[in-house]
Amino acid sequence: MPATVIDGTDVANQILRDAADRAAVFAQTEHRKPCLATVLVGDDPASHTYVRMKTNRCRASGLEPVSHQLPATASTDEVLQLVRSISEDAAVDGILVQHPMPTQVDERQVFEAIGPDKDVDGVTMASFAAMALGEPGFVSCTPGGIMRLLDAYDVELPGRHAVVIGRSPILGKPVGMLLLSRDATVTYCHSKTRDLPTIVAEADVLIAAVGQPELIKGDWIKPGAIVIDAGYNPGNVGDVEYIAAAARASLITPVPGGVGPTTIAVLLAQTVDAAERRALTPAAFSAQSRRQA
Ligand code: NAP
Repeated sequence: MPATVIDGTDVANQILRDAADRAAVFAQTEHRKPCLATVLVGDDPASHTYVRMKTNRCRASGLEPVSHQLPATASTDEVLQLVRSISEDAAVDGILVQHPMPTQVDERQVFEAIGPDKDVDGVTMASFAAMALGEPGFVSCTPGGIMRLLDAYDVELPGRHAVVIGRSPILGKPVGMLLLSRDATVTYCHSKTRDLPTIVAEADVLIAAVGQPELIKGDWIKPGAIVIDAGYNPGNVGDVEYIAAAARASLITPVPGGVGPTTIAVLLAQTVDAAERRALTPAAFSAQSRRQA
């Protein structure tokens, strides 16, 4: 029987509806909208598109986007100065620094300048540590979206073998930690992994997070497996050979329309979370008072 196709747009819309409802309540009680500040460095067209999509989605969901842009020649110090000033701005609830940044910018240093209470993209070491330890905090958005997809389709994780292909700090590594925290038995694969087909064939849950078109062949997939393809390659192609994999899997994400839409939805949901938490703090209170004065 062919796989059930996971509808990422539908799951994302549910997350967005909930975020919009909470944003409306927040605006009513706090007299301001939850605010997401975006930082874009350079001229990369894809990054511009991603930031535009995020700001449009903010507006549509009742959040306030504030955009900051620096030239492609910006130094690490210039980006740090901007991110630190936004982190200190009490009117901002969440910060998204779009990456990749130009190569002269030390991305890790810049991420670490984001205040932990505003790290709604889950990129700081503090957020990663909290996630790994199972403490409250912000998760990296794409892994968070993947977990929402698995939950929306009632995927049982305890004791199941999850194979994650990819170990990047924003995707592969954190999604493996989240699966582990839900009692899956997790195997990571990467560019030095030997005999990928044999490991993939053992996966009850396969997460593809590589960025190589159709690297994972359909006939590697264990019959009945759940296949989540986070890869997004030119021509709307994922990391998994979709048609052949769908013939063996029980559940599969399409590309596009699978993992992608949930990433922005989780970003907005976490911005509302940040706003709600900060509303309880003196900093947010004084920002509100200043605006009303
Ligand atoms: P990345 O930083 O380039 O990491 C790619 C990972 O794949 C690395 O860990 C690399 O291993 C591993 N890899 C490379 N070749 C491999 C091979 N032949 N066999 C096994 N593993 C291999 O990429 P990323 O940022 O994690 O993104 C991965 C994909 O997800 C991309 O297509 C990207 O566009 C997509 N993505 C989608 C979303 C979304 O919202 N849907 C968000 C983020 C990313 P090494 O560590 O050994 O180099």
